[in-house]
Amino acid sequence: MPDLHAQSERVERVEVALVGGGPAGAALAARLARAGRDVVVLERAPSWRWRAGGVFCSPAAVSALRGVGLGEDDLARLARPIRAMRVETLAGTSFRLTYGADAGGPPAVGLDRSELDPCLLALAAAAGADIRVGWTATALDLAARRVTVASPTGPATLQADVIVGADGLRSVVARAAGVARAARLAPRLGLTYHLADPGMATDREARMRLLDDGYVGIAPVPGDRVNVGIVLGPSWHAAVARDGARAVVDRIVASISPGADDPARWRDGTPTDAVAGAWPIGHRVTRRAGRGWMLVGDAAGFLDPFTGEGLHRALVSAELAAAAITAGGRGVRGIGGAEARARRRDRAFAAYDRTMTRRFLAKDAVSWLVQAFLARPALFEYAARRVADRETVRATMGLVMGDLIPAGRALDPRYLAALLAP
Ligand SMILES: Cc1cc2nc3c(=O)[nH]c(=O)nc-3n(C[C@H](O)[C@H](O)[C@H](O)COP(=O)(O)OP(=O)(O)OC[C@H]3O[C@@H](n4cnc5c(N)ncnc54)[C@H](O)[C@@H]3O)c2cc1C
Repeated sequence: MPDLHAQSERVERVEVALVGGGPAGAALAARLARAGRDVVVLERAPSWRWRAGGVFCSPAAVSALRGVGLGEDDLARLARPIRAMRVETLAGTSFRLTYGADAGGPPAVGLDRSELDPCLLALAAAAGADIRVGWTATALDLAARRVTVASPTGPATLQADVIVGADGLRSVVARAAGVARAARLAPRLGLTYHLADPGMATDREARMRLLDDGYVGIAPVPGDRVNVGIVLGPSWHAAVARDGARAVVDRIVASISPGADDPARWRDGTPTDAVAGAWPIGHRVTRRAGRGWMLVGDAAGFLDPFTGEGLHRALVSAELAAAAITAGGRGVRGIGGAEARARRRDRAFAAYDRTMTRRFLAKDAVSWLVQAFLARPALFEYAARRVADRETVRATMGLVMGDLIPAGRALDPRYLAALLAP
């Protein structure tokens, strides 16, 4: 760790220093700025670029985006309605998850992240947040609440009341807090990119195909493209190292057969961006907050995108974090004021951590259950056949995966019996 104080020739005081301007950071910055907080967002990318990440969102995430301030015009431009996700097993069984759309609810969507991420940052800027692109947090002293930054004009130091890590899977803030741990799953590689799909039907479904030790998701997105998201377990890593990511994804995409409503012409589409990778894709944290710091979005823990973790959780964490930072209050004047404020903040931040745990405990348990099935293809096949045949079971599963009903419903013994009975 560099000597932070030796580099402090340019020390700037800010109320909230937010590291990372992805969806979680931008959503939190917008909420804090609207609440009158002085917030600086440090985003290392000088301009938006495609990174390994997700585009498929349930209606719950869409309403969370509305909650941040996205209007219907924005959503029409950056979100493509998807009426169902078709899950397809290795043995050829398939079932459709509609996330409540077949019961009259709004559909899931495929997002254009090149529009979404800048749009959220623009919302934050319009609300008064100070967005600094091309600024990378390089070192942190959380006890002193200092962030050392590499900026386009040279090194700088920010002295903040609160530091928030919204900096994704390999959060420097989580590491500085000493709370970052490896996921309890075998290390998986995530690969994502887009393919042009001219002439795509307007109401196409998404597809999630299981692979041997992995899966591939195909989601239609705006701009006549599909997003290809691939997660590969350890048995694939040698092939990726030997042949390169592009050759491996090309082989996987070529192996996807046309579906009932999908002639899969996109398989021959031109890639519209390079294959972006993330390895390993999971991580966990032992705590999401401490004195003067907190974590939101992927920085606060991420298991696997198969069960819909990701954008929805990032947006919920931003909402809860904004409430905690606001509840922590500003300065209390007079003797003992700083200490009283610190204690109030400690309570609010600890409550944020507990609320996040409570909110996602059951969903995490469901995600682990699904991972256990994914690791045993015969077991997954057994369950998939029953989901395909049992409409009520399937409807509940879609609502749980989409964060539209409490996930505990899928852990109810009666539900599990209805799912697994021969
Ligand atoms: C293969 C794959 C498929 C996925 N599929 C889905 C899906 O279909 N649906 C879904 O909802 N989710 C999916 N996800 C997850 C989803 O992409 C993330 O949950 C979401 O992007 C989280 O947003 P975030 O803002 O927390 O993090 P990110 O989007 O990762 O943003 C973090 C930001 O922090 C910045 N940053 C990092 N370090 C620093 C630093 N030191 N200084 C300054 N800035 C920094 C980065 O440049 C970035 O802009 C998928 C993830 C993977 C890997």
